[in-house]
Amino acid sequence: MLETEIVVKVSEGLHARPATQFAKLAKEFSCSLQIFRGTTSADAKSAVKLMLLGIKQDDQILLRADGSDESVALNRLLAFLTEPSAGVQPAKPVHTEEASAPVSGSHVAQAEPAVPGAVQHVRGVPASEGLACGEAFVYLPEALRATRQFIEPHEVATELDRFSVAFAESIAALDQQFKTMGCHEDIVEALADVAQSDEFSGAVKQRIASGWDAAAATLQVGEELAAAFLAMEDEYLRSRADDIHGITRQVALRLLGMEDVSLASLSRPCVVLAAELSAPDFARAQVANIVGLVCTKGSATSHLAIMARSHGIPAVLGLPVDEAVLRSATRVALDGAQGSVWFDPSPDVEAGFATRIAQEKSRHAALSVYRDVEPVTRDGRHVEIAANLGSLAEIDAAREAGAMGVGLFRTELLFMDRRTMPDEDEQAAIYTKLAQAFHPRPVVIRTLDVGGDKPVPGIVFPREDNPFLGWRGVRMCLDRPDVFMPQLRALLRAATLGNVQVMIPMIDDVDEVRRVKALIAICAEALTREGVAWGQPKLGIMVETPAAALTADLLAQEVDFFSIGTNDLTQYVMAADRMNPDLASLYRTDHPAVLRAIGMVCEAARNAGIPVAVCGEAAARPEMIPLFVSLGVSELSMSPSSVLRAKKIVCEL
Ligand code: PEP
Ligand code: MG
Repeated sequence: MLETEIVVKVSEGLHARPATQFAKLAKEFSCSLQIFRGTTSADAKSAVKLMLLGIKQDDQILLRADGSDESVALNRLLAFLTEPSAGVQPAKPVHTEEASAPVSGSHVAQAEPAVPGAVQHVRGVPASEGLACGEAFVYLPEALRATRQFIEPHEVATELDRFSVAFAESIAALDQQFKTMGCHEDIVEALADVAQSDEFSGAVKQRIASGWDAAAATLQVGEELAAAFLAMEDEYLRSRADDIHGITRQVALRLLGMEDVSLASLSRPCVVLAAELSAPDFARAQVANIVGLVCTKGSATSHLAIMARSHGIPAVLGLPVDEAVLRSATRVALDGAQGSVWFDPSPDVEAGFATRIAQEKSRHAALSVYRDVEPVTRDGRHVEIAANLGSLAEIDAAREAGAMGVGLFRTELLFMDRRTMPDEDEQAAIYTKLAQAFHPRPVVIRTLDVGGDKPVPGIVFPREDNPFLGWRGVRMCLDRPDVFMPQLRALLRAATLGNVQVMIPMIDDVDEVRRVKALIAICAEALTREGVAWGQPKLGIMVETPAAALTADLLAQEVDFFSIGTNDLTQYVMAADRMNPDLASLYRTDHPAVLRAIGMVCEAARNAGIPVAVCGEAAARPEMIPLFVSLGVSELSMSPSSVLRAKKIVCEL
């Protein structure tokens, strides 16, 4: 027997993919292989057991091998564990529609309790303005229950067969689904590995052999395994519980002879009622047939709200009703600006909505004359109205709405809700497409803005008491050049077209800007050395912390432009969490404190001769636009659905 202690250097730790590959390597040897971390240990040949050990980079572990090939096995495994990039493979291009949207927004409304008795008119969070009235489509995947728990001994063989067939079909379907989503094969392999492990399919088979019904065994084992992942300290590993739930559900549905409800089958215009929708739900949906959206979860700043706004779907989120209320509705009316929802509205309410929707349509049609207008105030000031985008899928909507370029492209969407990080080539292709779509208008691409509140594959975030005051945005990027440099290189490559501008989020200090510039210079030099074409993009910062606003005069010396992120600036100036609807009366961009901060930024920009934009949700608010323009803001960037109205407002100033 041989054993050795080692400090793990694998940058992702033994997460899903590295764990799968490590276990695969371990299986090449006949000796037994055990990993010890603290007081726990696992069979090194089981990817699931390794994942559940939660081994991170820089963890000290002990590796034990026992058998004829123990020496060579130990050497190979040690080499794996000391290689930072072990188990990390470049991702293949992913359809960006599948990426999720980031957290944003600012209109937070107080949810009112449901009307007692028959629920008809309820108020939730106004998340995306607009009116809708129509047939309800209830998207609430039902909790699955087995019809029986135990079987007779003579049924065991049949149940085992049924499980094997359902399991194989589910893995094949998963494979197909991920292929459609453009995910890398090794992700499917990692998931399949979990599913095929002793902990999942092995445990289900064992239970069936001991007299359990196949569906009951599947549901029970899936629940237990998901709970084990949920108990992990690491956010990314915790979110793998969703994968286990997904596989379990697919197998159990087949065993129960049921089909899942799917938004892909939305064949006519409907108001969707759901607990929440994920980015993949959106991606699979017939979005054109979603005329309205009502969810019991989500806030005005959730990614769901952003997605609804960018698709122009009226939405009310965080509705305080039971799912039973959603299930029983056949028709629904909603006012996304007010946050009001009517279940099975009376003929009077329906008629009122029909009139208002017709008026809204004609108002919108009247706005279309502004599509190609370059808005100028009556005293001759030009104001750019640009679009906030999160994926290439939104380009058409932005162009149709007459957006004069992109004022904020949230690149975190390319990183979140997927299982591998996009590599440099994939990013360069996406940024180039974006730049081409709007050329010669500018596209402002924001570098990765994530923190511990959202898991991103390949980045292990520490648990923080206050993730919004924590290791996020540029702070994380400067600490992780392996993540940041490929993005900067991709941006420089896309900048050959001349209209790409780079924007850095969460800047607090001049030194952070200088360090970013130094990294850009290193990337540029390397690209030149490699003979890769690149361009020098303009560099700007988001002004969204009080520190940046208070030192705007110093920061203005370092950058080409400012963009004020009112969503975060408001929450940090007011010390009021932007996601907490109970703080709506404090979370106010029109509070004198926030307006003074914005005024200081505009003055510093004017003195330094650089342009200043606003790209938070307040940029689209009709009552705020005159204020911003009078303070000297020369660009407003917003959801495409608000662009035409903003152009009209500017022209009338
Ligand atoms: C902001 O903070 O105003 C902003 C635009 O960024 P995000 O909403 O993505 O934090
Ligand atoms: Mg922000």
